[in-house]
Amino acid sequence: MDTIGFEQHDHKNCVKGALSAVEAHCAAHKLQFTAVRRRVLEILLSEHRAMGAYEILDVLRDEGLGSQPPVAYRALDFLVSHRFAHKVERLNAFIACTHPGETHTPAFLICRSCDAVAEAHAEPSKGMLGRVASETGFFIEQAVVEAIGLCPQCRKGALPCP
Ligand SMILES: [Zn+2]
Ligand SMILES: [Zn+2]
Ligand SMILES: [Zn+2]
Repeated sequence: MDTIGFEQHDHKNCVKGALSAVEAHCAAHKLQFTAVRRRVLEILLSEHRAMGAYEILDVLRDEGLGSQPPVAYRALDFLVSHRFAHKVERLNAFIACTHPGETHTPAFLICRSCDAVAEAHAEPSKGMLGRVASETGFFIEQAVVEAIGLCPQCRKGALPCP
């Protein structure tokens, strides 16, 4: 499991590493990594938390990169469709992927108290859902896995003292 959202880590290198991985992926696949797309990914990476489209648009507007909602939505569409970012349905918000460009089904652990989100790998075709699907002859193309709970930080505060 890769739960970078809940861990202490070398954040400066994490942002740089993710941006250069996406840059390389775009170059290899002839995708346009425009200034706005890059900035939106950087904004998402900077906090490892899910952000709504309007929150992102506010930053873009302040920086003079665009003030119309479609600017943010188009950049997010691009990032999501190439798996550089994901949409967290429960929060109606977006989060940067922790292993951009790779084919994977993300699973999200969402803290109900502080809204921190960690991405974990899920293999719906192998778990319980997959067993039920194969028994019924159903082929899973996409699954949304979002778990709600308390992150390690918030659990510390929530647990009664021993
Ligand atoms: Zn980081
Ligand atoms: Zn991902
Ligand atoms: Zn929390």
